[in-house]
Order: sequence, then C-alpha cells, then structure tokens
Amino acid sequence: MDIGNQMIADVKDVAGEGVESREPCPLCGWADTHLFLKAPDRFHGRSRLYQLVRCPSCSLVWLANPPRPDEMNQHYGPDYDRAVGGVGENPEHWRGRRDALLRYKSGGALLDLGCNSGGFLSSMKSPSWKLYGIEMSDQAARMAEAKCGAEVFVGDLLDAPFPSDSFDAITCFHVFEHVYQPRAVLAKVSEWLKPGGIFYAMMPNIDSAGAKIFGSYWYALELPRHLYHFSPKSLRKLAGAVGLEEISLTTNREVFLEPSVRYIIDEWLRKAAIARTPLARAPAPSLAFRAVRKAFRLTVLPVLAGLASLVGDGESIYAIFKKGIKNPDPAGK
Ligand SMILES: [Zn+2]
Repeated sequence: MDIGNQMIADVKDVAGEGVESREPCPLCGWADTHLFLKAPDRFHGRSRLYQLVRCPSCSLVWLANPPRPDEMNQHYGPDYDRAVGGVGENPEHWRGRRDALLRYKSGGALLDLGCNSGGFLSSMKSPSWKLYGIEMSDQAARMAEAKCGAEVFVGDLLDAPFPSDSFDAITCFHVFEHVYQPRAVLAKVSEWLKPGGIFYAMMPNIDSAGAKIFGSYWYALELPRHLYHFSPKSLRKLAGAVGLEEISLTTNREVFLEPSVRYIIDEWLRKAAIARTPLARAPAPSLAFRAVRKAFRLTVLPVLAGLASLVGDGESIYAIFKKGIKNPDPAGK
C-alpha cells in the first residue's frame, strides 16, 4: 500500500538520524528506551520536529522535547479552542459518559479535571451531585461556574487545594495526555478520592490500530500538546502504582481517519511545494463536501473500521478505576 510504505519510509528516515541520549522510562525506570517517531505540529502546519520516545517494557510513549510550560500557550490558541470547543456544547456529546458514571455512583462530590466551560459538569447537574472542576483558563472556569454552579479551581492540577478523601468521583476526559506530570496527577487523584471512589478517564491509545496505520500522521498525536501517550498496559501500570484498582478498561474504535489522511495529503503537497492551509485554519467544508463526507462515513468508514480491528485495538481508552481501601505502595512500583 502506497500510503503505508510512505509512512514506513518516513519513520525509517527519522530513525536513521542521530538521536540524543534519552532518559529512562519515567513510569517503570527501563533504561533502554528508543525513538518512536519524530513529527511536527501538523494541526498548525508548523515545521519544528518533536521526538516521541517509547519504553519497550511498559509501552509508555512520551514527548522527549516538550515546550516549556511557559511556552505552551503558543501551541493552543483560538484555532485549537475552536477545533475542540464546539462539540462540548452539545449535551448529547456527554450522555454516554454521564450514563457510564451513574452506573457506579448515583451522587456525591464530583471533580472534573480540565473541566473547560463545564460541558460535562452541566450534564451531571442535579441535587444529588456537588460539582467541582479544575481548569487552566479563567474565562472557561467562570463559564463553568455560571452554567452549572460548579466550584472551579483555576490553575495547575497539582496546585489545587482539595483535602484527601474528598470526592466520590473524579473524571478526566482527554486531558490526562496533556499534563506534564501524569504520575503526580494520578497520585493526587488517588489521594483526593474517598475509599471506593471512582476515577473515570478517556485518552488516546498509542497501541491502537489507527496509531499503527498512520504513524507520525495519526491525528491524536497532537504534537506538542499531548505530552504522554498511554496504552491499556501503561495506564494500568500507572494506576496500580498509585493505589487505583481497575474496574473497566476498554478501547473504542475512533480511527481519526479524515484528519489523519489530511495530514498525509498536507505533507505530499508540502513536498511538492504547493501551499496549503493547515487544518487549524481550514475553512468550514462546503455543503457538497459535507454530503460526500456523510456518504463516506456511512459506507466506507464502517468497512475501514472493520479492517482496522484486524490491525489492533481501538483508538480511545475508556478506563474506570476505583480507589482501594488499602494504601498505595509508597515506593510507587
Ligand atoms: Zn516503561
């Protein structure tokens, strides 16, 4: 397959370059980590290359050269907010997560990590729940408070002042891959949960079929905004290290086909010196295009999704953990 061969060639080109010495795996301590891939921020169409490193032992993948925290806001901005923000306003978007959480907890104190403008918290609004959030954006936090009466801490997750054993449920949807210190954050989650409390998270699966098929073009790499990439194996290991017990961990098919294919086409055009508007600033698709896309989604996509299932697991991890009654191992192993 041409696309596949091209991507394999790209990865080989990258692997052939000199690679700096690397840190041991931050999750399991394995020393012999290796370059996974190098790629730019394809969403914004920028040229700087980022390196992802993989631990062959626990399968954790991480960004070896992340932007400094004080530079990170240059990598978000209004184009990114527009791309990710719109869908969160639709209550239907949250229904599945709401129903899943309600299967385990019928009420109590709920904390949403990276709550944005309160889309999910609003879906949980009821007399049974006291709602809390943590959010980096002051503006988004104010919107969440106004929308659902949540109490939102503005700032870094690790700076939030919640007491131990405070929450019946903590949720984290497509946020965990953005944090600089996932182990410390998950240790906080474990501390903040009441014994028997639930941690419910969603994040991309780096061992999925989509990640394998598209390589450095996989949409969910989101370089350099995604700092850590988990697989079911590495997420289980991390959760276990902080005293969280698995209740349910599944992967969901979500190939990210259209944006990933777009990134490949962007790259071909770039090599042919043809200017192309990056996805971040692409105009809204025309009615005709949307009609073709809808037909494609109804006919071709299910076939491709079926084929992808032969290659590997689903592209999103849905995980529910419970805080056990015994204390986590202080050594964290
Ligand atoms: Zn490891």
